[in-house]
Amino acid sequence: MTLTAGVVAVQGDVSEHADAIRRAAAAHDEEVTVHEIRESGIVPGCDLLLLPGGESTTISRLLREEGIDDEIRQHVADGKPLLATCAGLIVSSRDAKDDRVDTLGVLDVSVDRNAFGRQKDSFEAPLSVDGLDEPFPAVFIRAPAIDEVGEDVTVLAEWDGRPVAVRDGPVVGTAFHPELTPDVRIHRLAFFAPEAEQLAR
Ligand code: GLN
Repeated sequence: MTLTAGVVAVQGDVSEHADAIRRAAAAHDEEVTVHEIRESGIVPGCDLLLLPGGESTTISRLLREEGIDDEIRQHVADGKPLLATCAGLIVSSRDAKDDRVDTLGVLDVSVDRNAFGRQKDSFEAPLSVDGLDEPFPAVFIRAPAIDEVGEDVTVLAEWDGRPVAVRDGPVVGTAFHPELTPDVRIHRLAFFAPEAEQLAR
């Protein structure tokens, strides 16, 4: 069976994620077709979804305008996997503490936008992530931090004492950009780990 993946492409880094999904699928001997999502009607046909980084205020506005927001909520309610990175994590959260971001509420965390930004706009750190044997080269770009996690949320990684990767059922959120390194282990964790497989099939 060929999997159908959707990369939300209203704004932000799309092609790197599409490439990472293809390589993660290949590592698991899965065929995958990748769609870029700019309008409603495509998400319902996707087995797995990716919500990339970019600018959370813009992404959330465009998702609402295009009617993609409710489709993503339904995707998660159906138990299908979603990987949300950086601005995608902010948009997916329960609360971004910023009226300009209309959050999806599919990931039970609150976030602090730009927590790792401003003073140090971008850095790379070797991150220990639950479920990975070796540290992951995590690229942080004006990254958010997670400041509150709900009861059912598992913290997969912390940096500087704050959660930066979490799993909440079918949703994995990262404050960093896993698509900006050749390493696809975060995509594999989000979509092909036993926890995700159970949910996807
Ligand atoms: N801090 C940005 C925002 O609030 C996200 C940055 C990113 O995705 N690299 O949208």
